[in-house]
Amino acid sequence: MPFENLGDRLRNAFKDLRGKGKLSADDIDNALREVRKSLLEADVNFKVAKKFIADVREKALGEEVFGSLKPDQTVIKIVRDELTALLGGTQTKITLSSTGLTVIMLVGLQGAGKTTTAGKLALMLKKKGKNPMLAACDVYRPAAIKQLQVLGEQVKVPVYAEEDSHEPVEIARHAVDEARRLGRDVVILDTAGRLTIDEALMEELRQIKSKVHPHEILLVLDSMTGQDAVTTAKAFDDSLGIDGTILTKLDGDARGGAALSIKAVTGKPIKLIGVSEKLDGGLEEFYPNRMASRILD
Ligand code: GDP
Repeated sequence: MPFENLGDRLRNAFKDLRGKGKLSADDIDNALREVRKSLLEADVNFKVAKKFIADVREKALGEEVFGSLKPDQTVIKIVRDELTALLGGTQTKITLSSTGLTVIMLVGLQGAGKTTTAGKLALMLKKKGKNPMLAACDVYRPAAIKQLQVLGEQVKVPVYAEEDSHEPVEIARHAVDEARRLGRDVVILDTAGRLTIDEALMEELRQIKSKVHPHEILLVLDSMTGQDAVTTAKAFDDSLGIDGTILTKLDGDARGGAALSIKAVTGKPIKLIGVSEKLDGGLEEFYPNRMASRILD
């Protein structure tokens, strides 16, 4: 799980504040210097870490800390609140329209966990009483279609595919039509990925977007790639426009820098997190406050 080191380091940074009846500005600055170091070691974006420290400092140097009986607890509370804000503040759910069909478009680089996440999301929605359908829009990797079909069988969700087609935009359109015809209420489009971002990929995704008007464009990101995930998020948002992110492989990410930087850098929330390879239970809704507590407690 992420933040193991960060949690330890932060607790350490506050140790010296404990038991002090009154804190000086120096005490706070010393602790914040450690906090800053630990954020950078957790691979948090440099500017994000800098602003975080400035915000905590401003609040801590206010009346609050100096007037409180347990100043160390007050500083920790401020840090907890700021971490929650950094992770996105309040929970942001995916938008499902209450009537008719919701179109969810999953985008991302190859290997980020997009196809697996499509299967996990279909199962999650099914458990919420929805009737999802999956659609294979990756025409470049024949194995991707098969992978989605196997996942669909495992979670017992129908998969729309056109094995001989080379037109992802058409497949997406047909998939939406088919979902409507079958009376499904959610269709999840699994789009193609590439090893790196290229203009052809972006153009294809923009075309799908303009043809099917997804309610949600969710970018699937591998949290283990740290700041690369943040750069990818920025590029997809600038070029395509995304509604949120799904951060996968959090179970293998010891540092957590991507999770702590993405909202601040892109302004787009983390909506779901991948916490294991398992289809059932491997995808969770993301609660910034719970994650902040997990870091500090
Ligand atoms: P795609 O190329 O983006 O479609 O990626 P895949 O869905 O094929 O996933 C790539 C690998 O990541 C697979 O081995 C998945 O099992 C694995 N994976 C995806 N999400 C998670 C996750 O949340 N945790 C772990 N541990 N592995 C994951």
